[in-house]
Amino acid sequence: MQADVVVIGAGAAGLMCALTAGYAGRRVLVLDHANKPGKKILMSGGGRCNFTNLATGPANFFSANPHFCISALKRYRPEHFVELVERHGVEYVEKAPGQLFCAHSAKDLLGVLLAECEWAGVELRLKTTVERIERAGEGMRLATSAGRIEAGAVVIATGGLSIPTMGATGFGYDVARQFGLDVTQTRPALVPFTLTSQWKARAADLAGVSCDVAVSAIREGQRLGPGRQRCYREPMLFTHRGLSGPGMLQISSYWQPGDELEVDLLPGFDIADALAEARQAAPRRQLSTWLGERLPRRLAQALVEWHGEDPTLAELSNSRIEAWQERLGAWRLKPAGTEGWRTAEVTLGGVDTTAISSKDFSVEGLPQLRFIGEVLDVTGELGGYNFQWAWASGVACGQSL
Ligand code: FAD
Repeated sequence: MQADVVVIGAGAAGLMCALTAGYAGRRVLVLDHANKPGKKILMSGGGRCNFTNLATGPANFFSANPHFCISALKRYRPEHFVELVERHGVEYVEKAPGQLFCAHSAKDLLGVLLAECEWAGVELRLKTTVERIERAGEGMRLATSAGRIEAGAVVIATGGLSIPTMGATGFGYDVARQFGLDVTQTRPALVPFTLTSQWKARAADLAGVSCDVAVSAIREGQRLGPGRQRCYREPMLFTHRGLSGPGMLQISSYWQPGDELEVDLLPGFDIADALAEARQAAPRRQLSTWLGERLPRRLAQALVEWHGEDPTLAELSNSRIEAWQERLGAWRLKPAGTEGWRTAEVTLGGVDTTAISSKDFSVEGLPQLRFIGEVLDVTGELGGYNFQWAWASGVACGQSL
């Protein structure tokens, strides 16, 4: 069998690259070992796929080479993808500022990609495993479960390691190493935290309770997080196993084993001033009542239980107010770990971009081999950035094939 381009991986980046190259007149074959294409698209965004973020920029990505993503992101912007979605009449909603989700189902979005692939003449082969890849003159040769394939170029779009049950493998990293590329250390990110026994039991009692927090990671006294404040200000969710919710998923990209988390349960609120004022205005009110007006009731009650005191506000001396300011505004805890690859949304790290062109995603000295999407050491924050990277890298590569 022969093809101009073989794309390995029928996920977001692979399909986007395939349809782009197909429209450019290339004969494109997409191979995937899974029984269905785009499984992560279907499960993303709670089944409604947060397919882009209108504010996408290089600052939203983690990479050992922070400049690598600039060129592709500049050339294929969120508006371009929105235009494609609108052309297919797929309805979408802006659930949070800049975060666009399918109004109905992620199936609609996968439908767009599959229809475009079909119109572009792309051939899709599922349940196909690639046993060997080797250089063959100016092209590449593949041994697959569907036989031998000669290709002008091979694009590796096999994604990261998260959710192995959905077909994730380290295949792309193995191919990279085979051709002499480095792979930076990988670890699960956008992943919930697990807690040690005492905190685990406390979190489990509050499972389902959510509140807005500001959260940072703390390593050797240094605060880690984005922006000048070095924190994410997003909701936190207590679960049976620990802490989740957008704020926790985001900070997991900064957190490493041994680090603490610092959680401000009342962000943007001067707790000491407010408590001192309330002590004057309502001295007989219980602290738990005051807390329950600002935090979910169950959490307010749990806080006074954890700290073994529920004084009236009149009983709060200035030093006790300071202690409560610390407990509420700078709650420190050390997670046991994360839930790992089983539930992580993305992989931090991946194929080192040093020897990859940021223009066409080819390997230095081997232009017939390309890497795109999440398999590369480029990882976005939560909020639609990872798909925008998949689209942008897929298009940049597809246009150049
Ligand atoms: P993938 O989409 O992972 O595609 C890789 C493909 O390669 C798969 O089809 C796989 O079967 C195939 N493959 C793997 N190994 C082999 C092999 N050895 N042989 C053949 N085929 C192989 N990002 C967002 O921007 N917004 C969201 O709302 C969002 N929600 C998410 C929710 C969840 C639960 C998860 C897990 C991720 C979410 N992400 C989200 C991240 C996003 O899904 C990924 O960043 C994106 O899918 C990466 O695209 P990709 O094409 O590089 O890889």
